[in-house]
Amino acid sequence: LRTHYSSELKPGKNVKIAGWVDDIRALGSLVFVLVRDEKGIAQVVIKKDNSLFEKFSKLKKESCIAVEGECVENKQAKKKEIIPSKLTILSESSDVLPIDMSSKDVKTGLDKRLDERCLDLRKPENQAIFKIQSMLLYEMSSYLNKQGFLQVFTPCLMGVPSESGSEVFSVKYFDKKAFLRQDPQLHRQLTIAGGMEKIYDIGPCWRAEPSHTTRHLCEHRVIAAEMAFIDDEYDIMKVEEQMIIHALQKLKKDCATELKMFDVDFSLPKKFPVLEFPEIYGILEKMGHKVKHGEDYGTEGERLLGEFVKKKYNSDFFFVNRFPFSLKPFYVMRIDEKPEWARSTDLIYKGIEMSSGGQREHRYQKIISQAKEKNMEEKSVKWFADFFKYGVPPHGGFALGIERMTMMLLNITNIRECVLFPRDTQRLTP
Ligand code: ATP
Ligand code: MG
Repeated sequence: LRTHYSSELKPGKNVKIAGWVDDIRALGSLVFVLVRDEKGIAQVVIKKDNSLFEKFSKLKKESCIAVEGECVENKQAKKKEIIPSKLTILSESSDVLPIDMSSKDVKTGLDKRLDERCLDLRKPENQAIFKIQSMLLYEMSSYLNKQGFLQVFTPCLMGVPSESGSEVFSVKYFDKKAFLRQDPQLHRQLTIAGGMEKIYDIGPCWRAEPSHTTRHLCEHRVIAAEMAFIDDEYDIMKVEEQMIIHALQKLKKDCATELKMFDVDFSLPKKFPVLEFPEIYGILEKMGHKVKHGEDYGTEGERLLGEFVKKKYNSDFFFVNRFPFSLKPFYVMRIDEKPEWARSTDLIYKGIEMSSGGQREHRYQKIISQAKEKNMEEKSVKWFADFFKYGVPPHGGFALGIERMTMMLLNITNIRECVLFPRDTQRLTP
């Protein structure tokens, strides 16, 4: 159907273009039809004496068409145009569109836009979000591949709830109950127990949290890596930091046009600063935000720490390390001599959590005793912990939210814009 994209037109050539009717403008004896494809917009000009004049004039916005014609240079307008010799209507659109298709549309609320997502997604700025997301993921996985990480797939259906049980969805599984994973974490660890040393998994997670925030979905995706034979959690942070720096540097070059659409420009530090507990309590207290020793700093604390790091280190990224064990799941590794604190890390970007990770406990007895401390039922731990009886190396990893990262990178205010078809507490369609 197509010989050229809108961005590839060459004057003097006969071309076939295909796309959607972006706009139709009638100017007396002339009709201009703008045809939008993945790479931009081409202008088709039809004079009154062209036998296709009538057919072009009657086109409806968003109809899918193919046009054949000669590409000419409009010197006055400094534009390439197409003088058509053939028009094929591939699929006609309705007379009335449910949402305003102009990119500067401010009238349509997000909910309505998501109801009409297939039309909404056609807007170039929305296409740009997913191009950037795709490149981001491609570059992050390329980095891991080059470092010798193997991409693997771990199960999404779990026989027991993965951590707490309260935040997971359950599904009917023949005559049993299964649970959707909230993180590929446990099976990533079991893959390490299976003798693989560096792996990563890209896939979905589900959270049945009834929270309505602009940064939580009920279904999101992560890029999650796990690595064996580490000295400590700092080895993991290094991989994550370098993966992000690599990907964002590439993006700056390869997605310059798309980043510009969001007015995004960034500089990257060579290293991400690290803040550790319990010092974090002191930093926050000085900023007027008192958090009780042993407790989490919350969203407001996260934001304030972001402010602190930006001022002190001029970095949008930083790690938090050594979370209180009381806040973290049974499988994290604690500092042996200071068991109140765990080798547990978060990556914060522009004041919002991007990832969690750290070093995991690989010693069988400790896993069992930590699970007991967390009051976990034996059956929900045994299937996992038993494999640690047979020699598992020190290991750790991280899980980075893909939609979260896209949202923060592009300064988008609602995470729902960064997923094609969002699933939240209210939405299961389209
Ligand atoms: P938060 O505290 O922000 O709710 P979390 O600590 O519960 O996140 P993790 O279990 O650490 O989340 O998940 C790893 C990463 O996955 C998070 O850092 C975040 O980027 C992303 N993520 C977690 N939950 C969601 C969600 N409900 N929607 C979108 N992304 C999420
Ligand atoms: Mg977390």
